[in-house]
Amino acid sequence: MAVVLLLGVLIGAVVNRLGSDLPARRRPRLPECPYCGRRRPWYQWVSLPAFLVHHQHCPSCGALISIRHPLVELGLAFLFGFLYRRYGLTAQFIFFAFYTAIFVLIAVTDIERRLILNVVTIPAMALAIVGSFFTGHIGWKSALLGGVAGYIILMAIVLLGNWLVGPGAMGGGDVKLAAFIGLVTGFPMVIVALLLAILSGGMVSLFLLLTRLRSLRDPIPYGPFLIVGGWAVMIWGTEIVHWFFR
Ligand SMILES: [Zn+2]
Repeated sequence: MAVVLLLGVLIGAVVNRLGSDLPARRRPRLPECPYCGRRRPWYQWVSLPAFLVHHQHCPSCGALISIRHPLVELGLAFLFGFLYRRYGLTAQFIFFAFYTAIFVLIAVTDIERRLILNVVTIPAMALAIVGSFFTGHIGWKSALLGGVAGYIILMAIVLLGNWLVGPGAMGGGDVKLAAFIGLVTGFPMVIVALLLAILSGGMVSLFLLLTRLRSLRDPIPYGPFLIVGGWAVMIWGTEIVHWFFR
């Protein structure tokens, strides 16, 4: 378990790196301060220990390392630990851990930059197709059908949204994310995942609109809702359906 938690923190550091470098269209490189551009010292490459020993400021300019970094590392350690307890050291654990790291990376770029990148979603789809042969929770046919269904359903929602409120609310990145979620959850579970995403996204949007925290014109990133729905159904798909039709 200690190894799994440590792995979560280290993969979290990698996700942080990719989350900063990929949206800027540059190759991943060694960590650097986004304010002064100085290369970070080795003890800040993983932010969690740096925060724990109070070395969370850039040594050259004093800027604080974004709180996103320790949150991602801690979050992935927690999620990896959860997956390991649930699945043990199995192929399912390994693939689900990869999917989880990818989901977190997509959430980071979507929340920070409103970007869901092809360079992330397309390899993720390929990985999920490979995974469907090894994880055993769904077959490859279910996975492929789920991927196609996710793509088509979200494409329809995007077209409808563009027609109703104008372009921009959701885009092609969300459609490819839905395809990845479909490949991971399979058919017909992908429908449950998308329903959860629409319900939670709708409720949060409504809350933000009613409390006037956001207006109808302010873009809300929908990727995180798709991700929460997809991840929950990946883990608890049958439980959720049983609970609903109880
Ligand atoms: Zn700096």
